[in-house]
Amino acid sequence: MKIDTNNPIPLEGVQRINQTTILHSIFKKGLSSRKQISIETGLDTATVSRSVVPLIENGIIEEVGMSKGARGRGSINLDFTTSGRYFLCLRIQRRDFSIAINNLKGEVIDTQTVDISINKSIDMTFSEIISIMNNYFKKYKHVDGIGVAVPGPFLEFNEKIILITENPTFQGFDFIKSLRSEYPETPIYSIHDAKAAGISEWRYHSMKQEEGVLLYISAGQGIGSSIVVNGAPFRGADGLAGELGHTSINIDGPKCKCGNKGCLELYASRITLIENINQRITKEEGFNDQKLFDFNSLLEGYLSGNMLEVEEVSKVAKYLALGISNCINFVNPSMVVIGDEFSHFGESFLQSIKTEVKMRLLSKTYETVEIMLSSKKNDSVLEGAFINSMTKTYLNP
Ligand SMILES: [Zn+2]
Repeated sequence: MKIDTNNPIPLEGVQRINQTTILHSIFKKGLSSRKQISIETGLDTATVSRSVVPLIENGIIEEVGMSKGARGRGSINLDFTTSGRYFLCLRIQRRDFSIAINNLKGEVIDTQTVDISINKSIDMTFSEIISIMNNYFKKYKHVDGIGVAVPGPFLEFNEKIILITENPTFQGFDFIKSLRSEYPETPIYSIHDAKAAGISEWRYHSMKQEEGVLLYISAGQGIGSSIVVNGAPFRGADGLAGELGHTSINIDGPKCKCGNKGCLELYASRITLIENINQRITKEEGFNDQKLFDFNSLLEGYLSGNMLEVEEVSKVAKYLALGISNCINFVNPSMVVIGDEFSHFGESFLQSIKTEVKMRLLSKTYETVEIMLSSKKNDSVLEGAFINSMTKTYLNP
């Protein structure tokens, strides 16, 4: 099949509006018959049938299986294609980067994570990213777009990373612009990582709530957040909204690179947590024989109830709970999802957070909000980068 990747949606005008409406419906509902799409979108079945023809011919959607109709008659279902067209999604973190290839259904069909050595120059890291991406481009020929998720503070509207604490090499490097000059032919869609994860969680929970406010807290190598209102991330004037990690929880706290003092991120990030534990091992008696920790050994120790790990993770839970309580008072969300690496700490970690949040909120406020850990198996940030790219390519009329 000949696919024109420069023109992902073949028609213009009203036809294009109808097509994006149909694609939107399939993206939301998944596998659907022409009849179901017609009911969902309000377009008559003749229009649906006519509009989907070029979408099928261009390899955007495909006919799959049969579903039982009302009188036992089968109808053919439509869904996004599982091969032929892809999105490449890239997630930059402080200490590693991940790349995933998604088909148009959003399934991850290839992925890898590579450590970023802080001793390496940004040029070397960038070349490494490009070399892996080039291999994927060779393997998956029709890449409709590149979705990139980066840590904040990220000026989304002019695509500049203004600060990555704990990885100064990224400072001043115009990452998205450099990427654009490497791939001038491929659309690139950048997004702040916590906003990406927020829209991915929204999609995951959309069965429960069609409308509402979801507050996403990313807790891991950094602390971030996003506010998703009826499915769309709240961006703020410059795209900077949601920088929970740089709100202060201590007026006399240590100075942060952002200029503020006592930022939440300085107390509750994975990097601080590991540093604190390793400091105790080095300084306190009784721990001297222990090996220095990395995140996996810390997680293992916490889950098996080791005193040192439980004490330090509980402190982090309290700090996070303070940040989350402030956010809940400010935003009034219906749902709070805590994601990223700390979600692996599990139920007892969530309970410590909930107990602390409950203590700090008016009971009415606490009762109306559901607080949970992310239960998604895939990386929400990479998935959000996919949803953002897919939305901008195919779902915006
Ligand atoms: Zn700060």
